[in-house]
Amino acid sequence: MTKKGIAASPGIAIGKAYVLKKEEFSILEYKIGKEEIDDEIKRFREAVRQAKYELERIKKKAKEKIGEKEAYIFQAHLYILEDPLLIDDTEKRIKKEKLNAEASLEKTLQLLPTKFASVQAEIIRERFRDIEDVGRRIMRNLLNKPTFTLSHLKEKAIIIASDLAPSDTISMEKRKILGFATNIGGRTSHTAIIARSLEIPAVVGLRNITERAKVGSLIILDGNRGRVIIDPSSKQLANYRKVREEFSHYKEKLITLKSLPPQTLDGREIELAVNIAGPEEINLALKDGAEGVGLYRTEYLYMNRSVLPGEEEQLNAYKNIARRMLPYSVIIRTIDLGGDKFLSHFPVPQQMNPFMGWRAIRLCLEKVDIFKEQLRAILRATNFGKVKIMYPMISGAEEIKKANKILSEVKRELKEKEIPFVQDVEVGIMVEVPSAAVTADILAKEVDFFSIGTNDLIQYSLAVDRVNEKVAYLYQPLHPTVLRLIDNVIKCAHRQGIWVGACGEMASDPLFALILLGLGIDELSVAPTSLLEIKKVIRGVNWEETQKISADLLKMTTSSQTKRYVQTKLSKKVKYILMDRSL
Ligand code: PEP
Ligand code: MG
Repeated sequence: MTKKGIAASPGIAIGKAYVLKKEEFSILEYKIGKEEIDDEIKRFREAVRQAKYELERIKKKAKEKIGEKEAYIFQAHLYILEDPLLIDDTEKRIKKEKLNAEASLEKTLQLLPTKFASVQAEIIRERFRDIEDVGRRIMRNLLNKPTFTLSHLKEKAIIIASDLAPSDTISMEKRKILGFATNIGGRTSHTAIIARSLEIPAVVGLRNITERAKVGSLIILDGNRGRVIIDPSSKQLANYRKVREEFSHYKEKLITLKSLPPQTLDGREIELAVNIAGPEEINLALKDGAEGVGLYRTEYLYMNRSVLPGEEEQLNAYKNIARRMLPYSVIIRTIDLGGDKFLSHFPVPQQMNPFMGWRAIRLCLEKVDIFKEQLRAILRATNFGKVKIMYPMISGAEEIKKANKILSEVKRELKEKEIPFVQDVEVGIMVEVPSAAVTADILAKEVDFFSIGTNDLIQYSLAVDRVNEKVAYLYQPLHPTVLRLIDNVIKCAHRQGIWVGACGEMASDPLFALILLGLGIDELSVAPTSLLEIKKVIRGVNWEETQKISADLLKMTTSSQTKRYVQTKLSKKVKYILMDRSL
């Protein structure tokens, strides 16, 4: 039986299923006397204290295993231990309803889903799961139950669960796990993030995989395509064994490209950088030979926590990345909050059209204190590496001028305090709003570089919500409008003598990357996992040929025409280059 889900972490795993049943607790509910209230609260606080101790240990382990950033998830769990939604609510219940601690906590946990039910954003629902995870930890302590472990597992297995909490994932020993398959979760769920960092194949969002797979069933998990096959036929098994072998050879072969330049056969060399959301992706980027960070999505530093990161914390994060990337540069994008990325503790009001609402630079130009704090940290980080600044979601020259004015103020203030920074730090913008793409000739005079954000540029220019699967068929990177806008941006930048990159997902797709190359792009900033693949296709083509294909595409009138042309002219070639072992 084949089940389709969301590909969360690449790779193929074949092995026996180990199905984790959701832990069920039997909880007694009883009334306590007024005189017992203090003792009950004390017992509850002791369980919280124990949870704190456990989480500190898990955090330490996480730091060693997967680095600072993921370890931060557990710092978030530690913050939750102080969250009124969980702690105050339970204590109030003990006091007011005179209920025992377990029952009070259980009631609080039961009410959580209703508090979060109407929230659409995945990031918020993830937070709910984090609170629930912490709640269950406290409950285990109240009931004196042992914590979750895989120590009894004798052989490596594919872990099947309804949902894996990040603390469970990190506590598992990598040598016992072949892969993860879960009923729920998205690509941005913490479990998916951790699986990718640990390089363990994972498929999430499989709905009812825990009901279908039995402990000991043979499983094929395809983290590349988001499939899980339960009790495969011998033919499927043979096929996948071959695919698994090919995939591992392919990965081994790709790594040989690490120190070769991203240069076409006829000598056009571009910059090949990576997009990152935090320091944990730097390891993979460096391992694969990235030449810089083309987009650092700093908003992730602000997520999953109950307070905004201060200047010093930001400085540490930026400084660390800038240092590690030397001699290459790091483009730090100022926070792009709003849209589908927002904070549970920061009041972004409900909006009818969040992607077109109070977001990114709009929010920063109004919340000047937050913006200045970030700019201060970025400027101070310029002392430690090659740092550049990039503003997101710019729609016109006024916004650049306003942002630059604030930047000048921050520079002046730092100078007054004799705090050092690089005075002539490069400043660029994301070109992701159609008005910016159309007026690129004007905007090019205001900045040092452009980076085309195709994810948003496509959604805005074609009026297609990028997260709505119902209109996904209209999300067409090869639509004549998109190609013309990109072409205009590149031409305007070059006429003005500035460089232009692309950091949207188009750059991470081998076919589209070649079209961007043909249109004259100077830099591609890609997902770290795509870096070597993109380098391989660049090294397998002639620039002249891609220029011709891109010029032909610009003359076409419909998406079906452009798609067909790319299929016949480029698809086969790209497949051939990717599979060719000699390149
Ligand atoms: C984009 O819009 O293409 C982009 C790279 O930014 P984000 O995906 O963070 O909106
Ligand atoms: Mg964007």
